Amino acid sequence: MTSVTAGLQHLVERDRDHECEGYGPNHLCVRLVGAADLPTRFGEFSIVAFWNNRDAKEHVAIVRGDVRDREQVPCRVHSECLTGDALGSLRCDCRDQLEAALRRIGELPQGIVLYMRQEGRGIGLINKVRAYALQDRGLDTVEANLALGFRDDERDYAIAAHMIHSLGVKSIRLMTNNPQKVEQLQQYGIEVDGRDPHILPPNPHNLFYLQTKANRSGHFIDFAGKPHLAEQGDWVRVEGMPERIPEEE
Ligand SMILES: [Zn+2]
Ligand SMILES: [Zn+2]
Repeated sequence: MTSVTAGLQHLVERDRDHECEGYGPNHLCVRLVGAADLPTRFGEFSIVAFWNNRDAKEHVAIVRGDVRDREQVPCRVHSECLTGDALGSLRCDCRDQLEAALRRIGELPQGIVLYMRQEGRGIGLINKVRAYALQDRGLDTVEANLALGFRDDERDYAIAAHMIHSLGVKSIRLMTNNPQKVEQLQQYGIEVDGRDPHILPPNPHNLFYLQTKANRSGHFIDFAGKPHLAEQGDWVRVEGMPERIPEEE
């Protein structure tokens, strides 16, 4: 076990009986319940498992280096996407976003990727597949939009905020193209000491996809002419393209 993971194990001990007033109106509380080494193709990390008192989901943090009492720790909040992250779906760019974050943090002395188990923006895999099916039919994008849209953002950020606090970080630099994410975490008392644009390096296979998404925020049309929805709540920036301000969705 690395010394970093050993340090995180102490936090597991610390949290054994942790109970606080909780974050937000739902009084959300989390505990670190496990930590282990996680060597990856992007470098050496530790994986930290969290329990929370609200959604029965197993959110994790992938931690690089000793982040305790550190300032300006680079941090990325990623929402689970089974189809993109694990299966390589091209219906979204979740895997590109996740890999870019892990690759970048893997080259730094410290950093955190929060992997939030909120598939399809929190609606779950079944509803996401149903929303995809609606999009495939090409007609009812409003319904598909609604199916993907009912996301409890407040709760998501409360969990993420408590996780960041529990890891003992003094302040973070949030890797995002979305200033609203910064504000939401700040509402829960996270000190966000800057924002780093999350820029995706394109490859020949996804270049067109990423450019299209970068040019048309939120809803965009893929090569087959089907309308798609962003799953990460973050608009995309592609290497070599200028930063743009998102339109209201
Ligand atoms: Zn708590
Ligand atoms: Zn996705």
